[in-house]
Amino acid sequence: MNLQGTTDVFVVGGGPSGLAAAIAARQAGFDVTLADGSAPPIEKPCGEGLMPETIVALRDLGVTIAPSDGVRFRGICFTQKDACVAGDFPSGAGVGLRRTTLHERLVARARDCGVKLLWQSPVVAIGASHVELAAGRIATRWIVGADGQSSRVRRWIGIETKHIQRRYATRRHFCTQPWSNYVEIHWGARAQAYVTPVGPNEICIVMISVDSEAASFERALGEFPEIQQRIAGAKITSRERGAVTSMHTLRSVQRGRVALVGDASGGVDAITGEGIRLGLRQASALAEAMVAGNLQQYEKQHRELATRPARMGRLLLWLDRNPKLRTRVILAFQSKPELFARTLAMHVGHGSAHDILFTGTRLGWRLLSA
Ligand SMILES: Cc1cc2nc3c(=O)[nH]c(=O)nc-3n(C[C@H](O)[C@H](O)[C@H](O)COP(=O)(O)OP(=O)(O)OC[C@H]3O[C@@H](n4cnc5c(N)ncnc54)[C@H](O)[C@@H]3O)c2cc1C
Repeated sequence: MNLQGTTDVFVVGGGPSGLAAAIAARQAGFDVTLADGSAPPIEKPCGEGLMPETIVALRDLGVTIAPSDGVRFRGICFTQKDACVAGDFPSGAGVGLRRTTLHERLVARARDCGVKLLWQSPVVAIGASHVELAAGRIATRWIVGADGQSSRVRRWIGIETKHIQRRYATRRHFCTQPWSNYVEIHWGARAQAYVTPVGPNEICIVMISVDSEAASFERALGEFPEIQQRIAGAKITSRERGAVTSMHTLRSVQRGRVALVGDASGGVDAITGEGIRLGLRQASALAEAMVAGNLQQYEKQHRELATRPARMGRLLLWLDRNPKLRTRVILAFQSKPELFARTLAMHVGHGSAHDILFTGTRLGWRLLSA
């Protein structure tokens, strides 16, 4: 690798969004170099649930997830002490798989399509048309900041982020046969638990709370006796790791010849299960904009892509903050499961304005008449 060289596109960060941006740019015919400070496969605390549309977005980038890579799930289940409702996706299935497996598949695809990959190579600075690494400087036409939630690229180009809400998370894996083919979202008094099947004998559990202490794994587990019972005696297959999940937005996601993708460009709370899909779709939109030589086009598409998940994220966090209302909503869904299925369909991008109005009105009516 010639670190005094040149490239068309330089991607800073090799998480899912950076790899997707590199693949999409290669597919569009650019010469692409990517650098990440870590080495693959990169692990990160995650719910590890890919929605059906995320699988489609991966396929569009030429990334195939084999059935043996993870476990298919048919929908989402909301559950709390006094209420429970499950809904199936309108079409397709989600896939639960270890984050490291997803990373391996993305890295393999990037390598196969000719992306130059620089691991353990943190980017230390950027200029108008170059990036600097400890080993040297590379001249580039476009710079893509895919360096995650605390993006340094974002700071270097002077774009501020507005946090709507931050929550704390911890994650662990357990060796046990999944007991459900839904991703379960359990609501407790101070924390939430997400349970995702990720293998024939493995589940991923994430605890999330607005309070960092309440999100500590053991403490949060105490709020969910049903989960506690199910995993009693199961071998722990990963160490506890913590993360912050946040809803944050930016006024702009590009400046000059630098564009931001994935969590660096704004994020949705983990509860939406949409973070990875957004990064993949932004990557494709960015490649098209670079071909057109017009990052304003990306700015516009980025805004459109973020609207639905951000709206759903706000709604779900609002339910999280209002336990009484949440109970009534889950009970309303429980008595009319088709309403929950329709809401889930809208969440994953199926459903017209008419569906939204119809479902909203019926749910509102059930809440008023309950
Ligand atoms: C608890 C939790 C649960 C979640 N569950 C789900 C889920 O179930 N489904 C889903 O779709 N999404 C989920 N998400 C969201 C998802 O994990 C993120 O949206 C996704 O990781 C964003 O990917 P990214 O590539 O943008 O950022 P990251 O994954 O953060 O990758 C950024 C990369 O940039 C690198 N980097 C940083 N600085 C530099 C530098 N200076 N030079 C070089 N490299 C650098 C880092 O090493 C890292 O590899 C969850 C998030 C959390 C916190």
